[in-house]
Amino acid sequence: MTLAILGAMPEEIEPILNFFKNYESVEYGNNTYYKTTYKGLDLVIAYSKIGKVNAALTATVLIEKFKSQKLLFSGVAGAVNKDLRIGDILYATSLAQHDLDITAFGHDYGFVPGGSVYVKSDERLNKIAKSVAKDLDIKLHSGIIATGDQFVCDEEKKSWIKKIFNADAIEMEGAAVAAVCDSLNIPFFVLRAISDGAGMDAQFDFDTFLNKSAKQSAKFLIKILDKIS
Ligand code: SAH
Repeated sequence: MTLAILGAMPEEIEPILNFFKNYESVEYGNNTYYKTTYKGLDLVIAYSKIGKVNAALTATVLIEKFKSQKLLFSGVAGAVNKDLRIGDILYATSLAQHDLDITAFGHDYGFVPGGSVYVKSDERLNKIAKSVAKDLDIKLHSGIIATGDQFVCDEEKKSWIKKIFNADAIEMEGAAVAAVCDSLNIPFFVLRAISDGAGMDAQFDFDTFLNKSAKQSAKFLIKILDKIS
């Protein structure tokens, strides 16, 4: 089986590449894809670059060109749910685009005709993640991830996203990946470690905790691979 591992930034993918050590690099579409094998799995690894367009492009390439049959995302996010602390990990049960807005025509935020506000992640992969957390005795959170093309570092914006989407965490790629995978019938899983609280201090916390949180997410993702293989 070919499995895709996707992040948004180099910091999110480096811990994974360091773990595998040997891989082949393939240049395509202004990006680099890293191929390796692990316990009988063919893996294609990439970071998309930040934002929904980059994430959608890379997810599509991972599926259409590299023939990935499942996709796992690993990265960091801002916390919306008060129970989430920096360093906590959560997986998305469903994802929505908080900046998609044709409400002028009477539609809900996050909705466009032919789509749905929320896209659900794959139950089976989520179940595997839960059993990994149980084995390792790690607290794994789950919830709704809201995605948009902006770094949220503002209490008001954060409260709005929480109110409208009932979101637990905010980031900039997940819902784009979800939309691609859903349309192409590819089971997907989105894991994020909290890097900041999406409020006033978010950019400082992000810079401080990015590497540590990205590693946390990557480490857990590799444990999931062990279970899938
Ligand atoms: N420091 C980077 C920019 C980071 S943008 C630079 O200068 O290049 C934030 C990244 O982390 C995105 O990939 C997003 O998915 C995630 N993220 C973490 N906290 C976030 C927040 N509060 N709001 C939105 N995205 C966040």
